[in-house]
Amino acid sequence: MGFGIRTLWAIVVVVVAAAVVFLTAGPAPAIIALVGGIAAALVASEGVPTEAGDDVTAEEGHDGLSPLLEEALDAIVEPVLLIEGGRVILANRSARGLLGTHIVGEDARIAIRHPAAAERLLTKEGVTDPDHPISLVGLGSLEQRWEMRVADTTSGQRIVHLIDQTAHDAAERMRVDFVANASHELRTPLASILGFIETLGDEAGEDAEIRARFLKVMFDEARRMQRLVEDLISLSRIEADKYRLPAQPVDMAELVDQVWEEFLDSGSPRADDIACELADDLPPVAGDRAQLSQMLHNLIGNAMKYGKAETPVRVRLDRDGPMLRLSVADRGEGIAASHLPRLTERFYRVDSGRSRSIGGTGLGLAIVKHIVERHRGKLEIVSEVGVGTTVTVRLPALKPPEKNAFENAVTKIQ
Ligand code: ADP
Repeated sequence: MGFGIRTLWAIVVVVVAAAVVFLTAGPAPAIIALVGGIAAALVASEGVPTEAGDDVTAEEGHDGLSPLLEEALDAIVEPVLLIEGGRVILANRSARGLLGTHIVGEDARIAIRHPAAAERLLTKEGVTDPDHPISLVGLGSLEQRWEMRVADTTSGQRIVHLIDQTAHDAAERMRVDFVANASHELRTPLASILGFIETLGDEAGEDAEIRARFLKVMFDEARRMQRLVEDLISLSRIEADKYRLPAQPVDMAELVDQVWEEFLDSGSPRADDIACELADDLPPVAGDRAQLSQMLHNLIGNAMKYGKAETPVRVRLDRDGPMLRLSVADRGEGIAASHLPRLTERFYRVDSGRSRSIGGTGLGLAIVKHIVERHRGKLEIVSEVGVGTTVTVRLPALKPPEKNAFENAVTKIQ
């Protein structure tokens, strides 16, 4: 029996079942159900003994596999292989891309050359428990991580499904690192505050001068913790809104003026060094005013902190085609090129001691990056050691609303 109407029905049933699994259990089990189901249905239709009573051999099995099965497997973005008698009889496009086109017909252990995979591909015990897939590191490229799942069809073929876990593992590592870093950042000032409280409880608390000095340190450390918690809350709020496009029209020139005023009012000794050049008649941007204000505070604040005392902090705002271009430039120590790609990572600092001593949380540029991304903008950091740093943000300008026929009619009546 070849590929016929019953096989088609079987595939339809499998697709519906996979959709149900997708809705109830998520994408990975759904893909496995889909791949396994289609492969089993089609292989079963191919593998059924012919009228003459002969079983289809591995090679014949591959040649005889229906084009629909190959097309269905090729449409799956993850690598999938079908193994029979220890040999690869089918590899979808993604598997051929990863392991080479030569793998079809090859010994499965040579096709997937990995110590952790070899015996699983052929032995009876090789079938993986859905909760315990096998991890393969370094297949394809050195840093790639794969999850291998192995299942058997009722007619004796083995389906191997490789799931790329590289991005998932990286995100998981980032999450773990983030929690560890945030806890460490909070623990240090907390330990210092507790130490001072203990000392003040002893005779040191009786000396007014020492007490005042210790209270000042405790206040600074508590402020540091407060800034950190505020930045963490900001970051998580901005991330939560990531997919919601901000819609308020924001006049950036007016906002820069407002932030400039705020710096002047703060009494910071560097505030007088801020010099703004704002082009006239700039269109508004579609933005979140509070977030854009925070972005300006962070960028101008960094230029003031890391630029040399009494050198200008230049804030420019102009138009660059369909975008508004904001740049904040300082003259200072600059940043070595090797640090630039990592500056927007949470808690990444070029000089941790220096950042902490001037009240940095290590989250300022991560917040800026997320705000710019939410506004569909672009962030660029250019720096030269010993000269200074320029941070440029481009934000899409809001297009003026097109007048429609109805608006024109209303205008005429008025
Ligand atoms: P922080 O709170 O430490 O300032 P940020 O995320 O704002 O954290 O910046 C990360 C690091 O990038 C800083 O610790 C500093 O080393 C570096 N950096 C940021 N802006 C500048 C700048 N304008 N000039 C020099 N270095 C900068």
